Amino acid sequence: MRPRVRLSLGFLFLLAAGLWFLPYGLSSYAIHVANVIIVFAVLAVGLGLCMGVGGQVNLAQVAFFGVGAYATAILTTHAGLGFWLSAAIAVAATAATGLLVATPALRVQSHYLGIVTLGLALAFTNWVTNAQIAGGAEGISNIPVPTLPGVDLSSEYLYYYLELIIFALALAFGLFVVRTALGRRMRAMRDDALAAGALGADVPVLRMTAFLLASVYGGIGGVLYAGLIRYVAPESFSIANMFLLLAMVIIGGRQSLVGCVAGAVGLYLVRELLVDHPTFAQMGYGSVVVLVVVFAPTGLAGLPPRIRQAIARRRGRGRETAAQLAEFRPYPDLSEISLEGGDPLLSIDGITKQFRGLKALDDVSLSVPAGQIRGIVGPNGSGKTTLFNVVSGLYRPTAGRVRFAGADVTSRPPYRLSRAGMSRTFQNLRLFGDLTVRENILVALDRSRTLSSWRYLIAPLAIVRRDRDLRRRADEVLDRYGLTAFAALPPESLPYGTQRRVEIARAVACRPTLLLLDEPAAGLNGDEVRKLGEMVRSIRDTGVTVVLIEHNMGLVMNLCERITVLAGGKVIAEGTPAAVAATPAVIEAYLGDSMDLPSEVTS
Ligand code: ADP
Ligand code: MG
Repeated sequence: MRPRVRLSLGFLFLLAAGLWFLPYGLSSYAIHVANVIIVFAVLAVGLGLCMGVGGQVNLAQVAFFGVGAYATAILTTHAGLGFWLSAAIAVAATAATGLLVATPALRVQSHYLGIVTLGLALAFTNWVTNAQIAGGAEGISNIPVPTLPGVDLSSEYLYYYLELIIFALALAFGLFVVRTALGRRMRAMRDDALAAGALGADVPVLRMTAFLLASVYGGIGGVLYAGLIRYVAPESFSIANMFLLLAMVIIGGRQSLVGCVAGAVGLYLVRELLVDHPTFAQMGYGSVVVLVVVFAPTGLAGLPPRIRQAIARRRGRGRETAAQLAEFRPYPDLSEISLEGGDPLLSIDGITKQFRGLKALDDVSLSVPAGQIRGIVGPNGSGKTTLFNVVSGLYRPTAGRVRFAGADVTSRPPYRLSRAGMSRTFQNLRLFGDLTVRENILVALDRSRTLSSWRYLIAPLAIVRRDRDLRRRADEVLDRYGLTAFAALPPESLPYGTQRRVEIARAVACRPTLLLLDEPAAGLNGDEVRKLGEMVRSIRDTGVTVVLIEHNMGLVMNLCERITVLAGGKVIAEGTPAAVAATPAVIEAYLGDSMDLPSEVTS
């Protein structure tokens, strides 16, 4: 066992022992506080998953908490159901509420999502304050004690253990999610939802899943709270408590579930100390939240890694440059078994894309047979990137159709196109900055559907096995592209040319049949461009069709079998490199121009 693993296991054991024996030293008031803190910790973990890990602003967590608690209260008192049956129904009802709250998330962007979810939280408080069934402002009392054979849960000392076990399971499950495929995908979405979509992450379902997780944790917190206090009233689920919860997550560190727990414990204790000065307390949380957001955006949990990074940077500047980019190892050549002839893999038919007054694409048609390397060239602003954006589903064309692999795919969402075998890179690099290089590749390798995430509950071992397999394959990809030395680094720390290579490796990790490369040679030096050429050719030799936007004419001329020239949003020529270079219209529109653009031709 590695010393670090042994150390953390030892620490975990000590912590567990400490928590187990904690009640022996606590007064009856202190154990009550401890029990409430655990409830908040469960809520904070749920909020951390949704907002910290998934990046979905969720101000309805306190409403989820309320639905869980009120449903338990209503079902046990009014309907006379047993506590645990009520609890199960309550959690299910909260999950349903979570999905309901998430529906706006399918449409609105994250800033508005905050307002929408806050509105829903307010509506909930309003409803419970006024509804007869919820007991109005007085709330509902006389919730029965949860029964457990042999254990008297009316004792808060024993209730503590019930909570502790449920909390430990909830935290472990959260950490399991974060460290495996689903969590990685959620983090990728938080970082760059557009790139995550282009890599096959079904973003709408993923956002739903984030809210579903938050709501289930909220529901569990609500059930525990109802069983603990045995009385529910609107003020426990107020907006003030929502902000307390938010402060816990932000101060503790929203990207670390353990940080969320630490925030919950710390802030609740502070609240206990300031219980006689509620106004100061609110102002205090507010100021601390602002300070944290400004000076430590990743929260207190984010500080140790940042300090470690800073020290490492100071100590070993040489270390980073010591990580060497290795050679790309070409794929085995499978080109005999491939392709050419037959139906085109990609055909674009009469695509027009209008941006208000500007026609970025004007009746563009072209078709690319399987196995070809097609170049797309044209002056800046001629619509090349827009064409990729239309083909890959980021833009909806104003007119025209796109056919891919025999199906009409016009305006299909990017994740479906990715699943169908289309993969792309971006002109301005869209690597996930909060993920390591290896994790960037892992997100692409994961071709599962987010809908199948229910397997996290049913078959966690299968998830672990699959993750191990993904990691093995990621290491193979990294090795092939000579990136092994960078596996654990964040992409931003790499030289630009290396980042470009990571993006190509990531795009190919999706196992595409069609690869769209948007100016892959931009910013590369001569040697890097030559290597890029070899890389693209080798990728094609595995049977992948490549469409390449490029300014570097040397690369285009020797790599592409056919070239399409765009100017002003129109196709002005198409043919073999030699034929295109000799076309008068091209010389006039583009190559003639290149007298003014020597940097682009030579770069
Ligand atoms: P290229 O990649 O060939 O350099 P682009 O496809 O990026 O060109 O852009 C073509 C034209 O469309 C440019 O004039 C650009 O300003 C415009 N354009 C591109 N995207 C948008 C957008 N989202 N909104 C408005 N105009 C856009
Ligand atoms: Mg462009």
